[in-house]
Amino acid sequence: MDLLAKLEILADAAKYDVACTSSGIDRSAQAGKLGNTMAAGCCHSFAADGRCITLLKVLMTNVCTYDCAYCVNRASNEVPRAAFKPRELADLTVSFYRRNYIEGLFLSSGVIRNPDHTTELMIQTLAILREEHGFRGYIHAKAVPGTSPELIDQLGHLADRMSVNLELPSQRSLRLLAPEKDKQHILAPMKQIRDSIAVDEDTRALMRRNATYMTQVNPKRKERAFVPAGQSTQMIIGATPESDFQILNLSAALYRTLSLKRVFFSAYTPVNDDARLPDADAVQLNREHRLYQADWLLRFYRFDVTEIIDEAHPFLDPDLDPKANWAINNLDFFPVEVNTAPLESLLRVPGIGVRGARLIMRARRTACLRESELRKLGIAYKRARFFITCGGVYAGRGADFSPEGLRAQLAAPVKGGAHGRRSAKTTPGQLSLFKKTETPEKLRAAGKGPRALDAGAPSAADGSFGWQRALEPRTTVAV
Ligand code: SF4
Repeated sequence: MDLLAKLEILADAAKYDVACTSSGIDRSAQAGKLGNTMAAGCCHSFAADGRCITLLKVLMTNVCTYDCAYCVNRASNEVPRAAFKPRELADLTVSFYRRNYIEGLFLSSGVIRNPDHTTELMIQTLAILREEHGFRGYIHAKAVPGTSPELIDQLGHLADRMSVNLELPSQRSLRLLAPEKDKQHILAPMKQIRDSIAVDEDTRALMRRNATYMTQVNPKRKERAFVPAGQSTQMIIGATPESDFQILNLSAALYRTLSLKRVFFSAYTPVNDDARLPDADAVQLNREHRLYQADWLLRFYRFDVTEIIDEAHPFLDPDLDPKANWAINNLDFFPVEVNTAPLESLLRVPGIGVRGARLIMRARRTACLRESELRKLGIAYKRARFFITCGGVYAGRGADFSPEGLRAQLAAPVKGGAHGRRSAKTTPGQLSLFKKTETPEKLRAAGKGPRALDAGAPSAADGSFGWQRALEPRTTVAV
């Protein structure tokens, strides 16, 4: 099987894994080495359904000995199978990187033979990338549950971020849909990664401070940091009956106890006929979207999970975002005076984000803030006005300050599959690396776009646009 055919199969097989976004760390370029990473998140962009697509996201292999009910790669499915050799994949990654197609690698895998063998193949690939090619770009590697601790350690010193998929929100569901996996095998590597990150950070901090006793244990060669961008995990939402209440409590516990950087929610996508799976024929993006909003409140807005959801109402309101929902249920907290309220109170106001709240704190040192100033600061005044006073004057004059009245003003149902403003910029459905899509560049090339395509720029018409080009030997890197 040629390399393009392998890439087509293995990139397509990886698209259901959502646990990747930005690089999360800064590492500058170095003479004689290749690549860099930026914490600003240069490694991401999103398809219409919210999935990240700019890393080279592939599986080492889609051969798998496990038979998870929800997975397209499960052993009992008759799908084309392929496997990269470590050198093939490493060279391919560098080749794409040199052409500026990608800014990093997201590497996962089916379980070939056993977890240790699978991880060894991944380690070999990353070792070639890091040590032979000197690749300093971002790498996100999946840890396969059940892998030996020594191999997790080796993989962690080669990757920037690692993730172990939780897969399903409860052990009962895991037993039902992924019988070969169990909670202990998933949690053990997560704990190991947490502990190793903490030890590595402490050691490096001491070495930076030149602590006397550290001079005796300084490694001879500078060792790569262990998973410097932290770890994340992913849960499938909607394949099993767990409520948002259970899912958010689990997420909060994971952030608290395992110091995760992100918990990703993946709306269940039906790909298999299986009696154990629900009869859903639509991707539950609305629910995924609300869960991400709630997750944002937990991580950046200082909310506690008990403020967002309770057992009596175990699902997030589909018509109202969780922050507006909290505000409507806590009207005695409002209105908040924007010119004097502490940061924590500003963060509770619908329409004021983390950046907006900080800008308000700074701007009000020199001026009394009113509508025009707030609008200039980028505050969503149309939403915020119901909950604030400016210089003692209520900004939502004439509004019905009751839960029903405010709900009517703030309700904004999520449209499934169209995630806000992104929907206008992206093509519908899951974006494939190979399928032809009407991108702005292509539209311009066809003379339909706002501007004609720059002369000499690659186009679909001349066959030089797309991934195929990366496989043509145009640089010193052999593929
Ligand atoms: S372990 Fe389960 S989820 Fe992962 S590739 Fe194999 S069948 Fe799919």
